[in-house]
Amino acid sequence: MLNLFIMNKQKYTTRIVLICLCIFSIVLSCKNNKSTSNVLLQEWTGPYNGVPAFDKMQVADIQSTIEQGMKENLEEIDVIASSTEPPTFENTIEAMERSGSTLDNVFTYYGILSSNMSSPEFRKVQGNLAPKLSEFSSKISQNQKLFERIKTVYENAQKIPLEDDQQRVVDLIYKSFVMRGAALDEDKKARYAAIDKELSTLYNTFSNNVLHDEENYVTYLDETQLGGLSEGFIKSAAAIAKSKGQDGKYAITNTRSSMDPFLTYSTERTLRKQVWTNYYSRGDNNDEYDNKTLIVEILKLRRERVKLLGHKNYAEWRLQDRMAKNPENAMQLMEAVWPAAITRVAEEVADMQAIANGDKITIEPWDYRYYAEKVRVAKYDLNSDEVKQYLQLDKLREAMFYVAGRLFNYKFEPVPEGSVPVFHEDVKVWEVTDLDSGEHIGLWYLDPFAREGKRSGAWATTYRSHTTFDGKKTVLASNNSNFIKAAPGEAVLISWDDAETFFHEFGHALHFFSSNVKYPTLNGGVRDYTEFQSQLLERWLLTDEVISKYLVHYKTGEVIPEALVAKIKKAATFNQGFGTTEYLASALMDMKLHLADPEGMDVGSFEKETLEALKMPKELPMRHRTPHFGHVFSGEGYATAYYGYMWADVLTADAAEAFTESKGGFYDKDMANKLVKYLFAPRNAIDPGEAYRLFRGRDAQIEALMRDRGFVN
Ligand SMILES: [Zn+2]
Repeated sequence: MLNLFIMNKQKYTTRIVLICLCIFSIVLSCKNNKSTSNVLLQEWTGPYNGVPAFDKMQVADIQSTIEQGMKENLEEIDVIASSTEPPTFENTIEAMERSGSTLDNVFTYYGILSSNMSSPEFRKVQGNLAPKLSEFSSKISQNQKLFERIKTVYENAQKIPLEDDQQRVVDLIYKSFVMRGAALDEDKKARYAAIDKELSTLYNTFSNNVLHDEENYVTYLDETQLGGLSEGFIKSAAAIAKSKGQDGKYAITNTRSSMDPFLTYSTERTLRKQVWTNYYSRGDNNDEYDNKTLIVEILKLRRERVKLLGHKNYAEWRLQDRMAKNPENAMQLMEAVWPAAITRVAEEVADMQAIANGDKITIEPWDYRYYAEKVRVAKYDLNSDEVKQYLQLDKLREAMFYVAGRLFNYKFEPVPEGSVPVFHEDVKVWEVTDLDSGEHIGLWYLDPFAREGKRSGAWATTYRSHTTFDGKKTVLASNNSNFIKAAPGEAVLISWDDAETFFHEFGHALHFFSSNVKYPTLNGGVRDYTEFQSQLLERWLLTDEVISKYLVHYKTGEVIPEALVAKIKKAATFNQGFGTTEYLASALMDMKLHLADPEGMDVGSFEKETLEALKMPKELPMRHRTPHFGHVFSGEGYATAYYGYMWADVLTADAAEAFTESKGGFYDKDMANKLVKYLFAPRNAIDPGEAYRLFRGRDAQIEALMRDRGFVN
């Protein structure tokens, strides 16, 4: 799934996004007893080991409470750092794991206000807090006394090893501090911080430039130019034009959600070219909003910063704590898949050209989606409206509970109405228990419907994660989607893609529920690994058990016809040449830009020459061209990390085959036990590569992905 900003939104990872330089200490921990009238500061009370008071939160309290949380956290860190006792795991690492409880609680509310219930009032608070949170984060990562203590604990543990999980916590914390420059001398540290500051400004300018080009290159159509477009698309284009003061016209905005359907369906070739050109020229218009020079500045500063730490290049520094470990491994995967992907593009183009010949057209990049759609209709004959009638939201939710029961031994039951506070009446809550023992595992919150102030897409998050080091904490996890509500009493019907995403996000929730880690840090995610568990869970949607029990017609209750299921399965490999190639071209570019010496680099020529060397097919562009590659240049979240989607895809395809090869298929008891034990429950307590080998008996193999995408015959 290439939905790029909707990633694993465990609270911990969310906080990484919020504070950028998050370190491991500020994850979550115990609740102190506090009495106050500000609900955000209050201990979580009520049933299920305490739950957030979502019904009483006030935006007005957020800023002051976060400021207070940061202050308390820094005081706690100061106490740890200034201790006169010799540093030990307990007085340093455990104490850090325990710190930051106020901040942690208030971030749960902050997350809801930012993602589920946003408002102009809240966005103002967000703007005020951003620089303060960033400063707060550096204060911890650059705390010399604190780092000295961590280092001592780490070095002692090299001589006399701790318990396995303690050893891993120390390792992760120590290495993250080193990666952030904590071990540098004062001069280098100062330079490191100065580079960070400069970069944060450049990232901001980069994003604003892209945003400028997205807002300022709107294509307006008149009513003679609507050929091929759906009624829904036309209606929304008319509304957008009206909102931009162009009543009576139709606006194609310069964003993917507008560009993609337009290029797929519009019969107006000249306009397709214009819309395509606008979109793929964002940040590359040789004006004051052009990003090419900025990118070189960013690459230079990144390289200088990692050189302070003794690394050859940014990619080497970045990948050291990823599953891939180094750029060579990531490149090896991408280069192994690339030839098959471009070969498939040639086949797809041939199929399309056969149709385009009738129109006397040679396929150009702005024709790809249009003719691909024609091939899809001719070859696969899959009617998405017909499929939808078998995809009822409530039934799909029951299907997920069924899968969780079979694989994880979980039972989901609605909590008594009104017993758990929610932030909106649409949100429903279920209690999760063990099917045999009845042991309470946690609560699952579902916020299914779109509304104003809620961000788009789908995501999963935790309000509280499992830990046992300081008394057992039970899990509060949530799934969030943007389905459209049906009329009262009618079934909510969703698309096949949305059904897959629903299962995907539920996979993240199961990953949260099944955690058996002792320390908060071990709940953290590894970027090229945490999407794997959720991607894998999508596979259960197409199992016979789910199909026969839950994919039933919303009116007649009849099971989805076999022929339709066969069409869905067949269509899964459709257009994989396009999808894989446009993605891989960006992922390869991301890595190559960070392996190259940026001195004297011209981004335009670099991109062109790199694509030529790769023999990039001329009929399609990169998914994200360099001048608007926000994942990589509007921050560091995905810099030299874009390969991670394919990395997780390899694991997914290979793990899915482990199930299909086993006696009981996707519900094989032994496989399910291994799945939970090695791939879900340990989270980051075991090195991901080792965890996978324990599950599979070997490393994942690329061939599984090739079969999955239909790249082998
Ligand atoms: Zn995900």
